[in-house]
Amino acid sequence: MCCSAAMVVSLLQRSRRGKGGRQCVPFPGIKSIVAASLLLLFILPAAKAAGEEIEGRQWQTVETKHTIIRYNSPEDLKRLNRGIRFSAGNHRIGSFLSFQHGKDPAEELMEKVDAIFERVQQILDMRKAMEKVVINVYHNSSQLRAAFFQIYRQPCRIRAWYRYWNNTIYLNVRDLHEGMLAHEMAHAIIDHYMVVRPPRATAEILARYVDQHLEE
Ligand SMILES: [Zn+2]
Repeated sequence: MCCSAAMVVSLLQRSRRGKGGRQCVPFPGIKSIVAASLLLLFILPAAKAAGEEIEGRQWQTVETKHTIIRYNSPEDLKRLNRGIRFSAGNHRIGSFLSFQHGKDPAEELMEKVDAIFERVQQILDMRKAMEKVVINVYHNSSQLRAAFFQIYRQPCRIRAWYRYWNNTIYLNVRDLHEGMLAHEMAHAIIDHYMVVRPPRATAEILARYVDQHLEE
């Protein structure tokens, strides 16, 4: 569940980008290449949008107070809801949210996710307005691994991660629990709370503290 590897890769990618990314530079006088470059401008955004499609389906979205949850199907949303159990013992936020039978799964999930987010803020004592965190919920591990490879061009050896550059948490709906979600939320909150992002090791220690103390 550790995010260090992803963050290292992320940092490496940033430094690579900084040294010179790919650019479309038209050659003066060569009309065909100019035309091709212009065509690329239209094709590239389309290709990016097509990347939103997984197994022939577009992402569906549920927006909560603190997050935007993206998922593949209503079944995955239900599975996500079942995977996240936030009872929090005697904790004020969670005590009334656990196992409310007959409640709409999406509604129940939204409440739990926001409650976990606020619990993480409370544990860290880091309450600051920030953009909603996107949570990409993948259908299975192969989708998750494919997403990792698409971003980092390396094999995925972690179960979940948070990516600062698009403020997104990546999860596999078949392999998750509330501690993992809280851990990745902690990374998002920590990275946005401080003016300068803390060292990776420091952030990891804090995030682990959060998932270990979530239900106290
Ligand atoms: Zn981590």
